[in-house]
Amino acid sequence: MTAMSLHIGSHVSIRGGYLEAAKTAERMGGRSFQYFPKNPRSLAVKSFDRRDAEACAAYCRDNRLLSIAHAPYPTNLATDDGEKRETVIRSILNDLAIADACGSVGLIVHFGVYKGPDPLQGYIRIVNTLNVVLHQWDGNAMILIENQSGEHARMGMTLEELTQIRSLTAAPERIGFCLDSCHMLASGLWDGHNWQEVVDKGHQLGYWPQLKAVHLNDSVYPTRSFKDRHANIGQGEIGRAGLLELLHTPMLQGIPIVLETPTPEPGTHEQEIRLLQQWMSE
Ligand SMILES: [Zn+2]
Repeated sequence: MTAMSLHIGSHVSIRGGYLEAAKTAERMGGRSFQYFPKNPRSLAVKSFDRRDAEACAAYCRDNRLLSIAHAPYPTNLATDDGEKRETVIRSILNDLAIADACGSVGLIVHFGVYKGPDPLQGYIRIVNTLNVVLHQWDGNAMILIENQSGEHARMGMTLEELTQIRSLTAAPERIGFCLDSCHMLASGLWDGHNWQEVVDKGHQLGYWPQLKAVHLNDSVYPTRSFKDRHANIGQGEIGRAGLLELLHTPMLQGIPIVLETPTPEPGTHEQEIRLLQQWMSE
């Protein structure tokens, strides 16, 4: 496998709009990118520039770039019933509409955080929220559920939970997964030495065919630390050997693999993308 068969890219800013974000990704040598469809700190609905979004989609088609959108941080699928949940649902539908117009594969949403006494209530809320969204959404962009590190709640850390939640929804075919390598290590699912076990489990559970995106991050903290701190490639607890083992997994071909590692400025992942391409060609 060569670097060119993988769609490696990075998170980019939409400061200059969606088309500009795609151009920034291309300029950095990326073959994919991720963006926040709107302000990442707010669930307020955005009335977006459809023409700019469609220009982004056309540019990506012409340049064979793949993109994914990331829901704002306050998006919590396991949120309490009532008004807050309505806000989350409206926001996700807005994100999906933007992702669709931009021609993106899907919208990344974290598994969900529930801190009440009965974890089962958290899972029920996640399924219910997803069902309300799926009922109102008929676009092409998928909902891509991301595995969690366990920092905010010890849930969404296993492949069993991800595949089970998906299959319990009303339209599983419109839900896929995003694998975050930092979260996978921090949660203990991957300890840095058991990758084959993770691969086998993913096959048993039907996880891999639904994998639609990767967040490629090293981890500042070790396995079972449950801490979500992204490190630059090769400078964390996963390291070069671990990341290469992940990148050589055949199921990663043809899907966006996006860096969310620290940079001095958004849209400056150029060197890290080049480093990865170099590793893959050695
Ligand atoms: Zn991530």
